[in-house]
Amino acid sequence: MPSHTDVPLAPLTSLRLGGPARSLVVCESAADLVEAVRARPCALVLGGGSNVVLPDEGLDEVVLVRNRGVSGLELQAGEDWDEVVRLSLEQGYVGLEALSGIPGTVGASPIQNIGAYGAELASCILSVRAFDRESGAEVVLPAAACGFAYRHSVFKASPGRWVVLSVQLALSQGRLSAPVRYAELADCLGVALGDRAPAADVREAVLALRRRKGMVLDPSDADSVSAGSFFTNPLVPMAPAGAPSWPDPSGLVKVSAAWLIENSGFGKGWGEGPIGLSSKHTLALVNRGGGTTAELLAVARAVRDGVQSTFGITLVNEPVIVGGEL
Ligand SMILES: Cc1cc2nc3c(=O)[nH]c(=O)nc-3n(C[C@H](O)[C@H](O)[C@H](O)COP(=O)(O)OP(=O)(O)OC[C@H]3O[C@@H](n4cnc5c(N)ncnc54)[C@H](O)[C@@H]3O)c2cc1C
Repeated sequence: MPSHTDVPLAPLTSLRLGGPARSLVVCESAADLVEAVRARPCALVLGGGSNVVLPDEGLDEVVLVRNRGVSGLELQAGEDWDEVVRLSLEQGYVGLEALSGIPGTVGASPIQNIGAYGAELASCILSVRAFDRESGAEVVLPAAACGFAYRHSVFKASPGRWVVLSVQLALSQGRLSAPVRYAELADCLGVALGDRAPAADVREAVLALRRRKGMVLDPSDADSVSAGSFFTNPLVPMAPAGAPSWPDPSGLVKVSAAWLIENSGFGKGWGEGPIGLSSKHTLALVNRGGGTTAELLAVARAVRDGVQSTFGITLVNEPVIVGGEL
């Protein structure tokens, strides 16, 4: 399998941040992926780089997930997520439409149980085939064993342990989408919350909404040089007055992190340096060019601390900060 030395990592990430990899190996099959991680127990496993913050000093070892292939509803980890969504709709499957436009690979999709517009991967997945670096065994985990929760899973809970090789989806054939569970999307489609719409229309509406917020990777949109939402929506016993919130199965309420940030004095476009808030969405930190990871973390801490002192709520980062923390 192709292996390289001193490879700049920034171009392999959506934030365009991070130093070089002293050694990088590209894996184009699941067997290569297993072999590569067996030989490199500490290597970072990197997919599309759209949910990572890499250190300025770089990394010793990186394993790049590039195994492609689709067999029925089993998808190799290196497949592009949005391409899979597009193809599934083209083939008459429904269920993934609201997850359109999320950057990155299939292999990373279960790590944080990707979600958007009222939908989550957890409801469309049958099982995950993974290599367990702790036991050295390949396992198939049924969805119920994956510990899926809001932006969380067993994979995220044990960083570095699991290497996702492929994902088996559970989708049904049809024309109509899953029930629309997000008010902004329902408005856009002209349907009531809980109603269904043609799945192809849902995909188009989601892509249009995401574009408006800088939430699809687009070389012509400087606001998409981000890791998507930088903070998760916090779960709290009671939402601050006026804050958009959603009930959570835990009995707590999920509060809009974007609202908390905006109402702590950080508006869209905030920040004067190379790193700041997106001009389209307060929840995204963007690299306007020439920024560093150290600067990004400083801006993230300023936002987190501002929200903490205004509302007493501590925001938690969504992207994985490799080799560090907020
Ligand atoms: C503009 C933009 C919009 C976004 N919108 C959303 C959104 O709406 N909803 C959402 O949930 N996310 C969103 N994200 C975040 C991101 O798209 C997802 O988290 C995506 O699943 C990351 O995929 P990736 O291949 O780029 O992962 P990477 O960034 O490469 O990796 C992320 C983490 O997963 C690990 N990983 C990657 N591949 C594997 C593998 N095969 N096995 C084990 N571990 C692995 C990495 O080590 C790392 O810890 C957005 C990001 C951007 C830039």
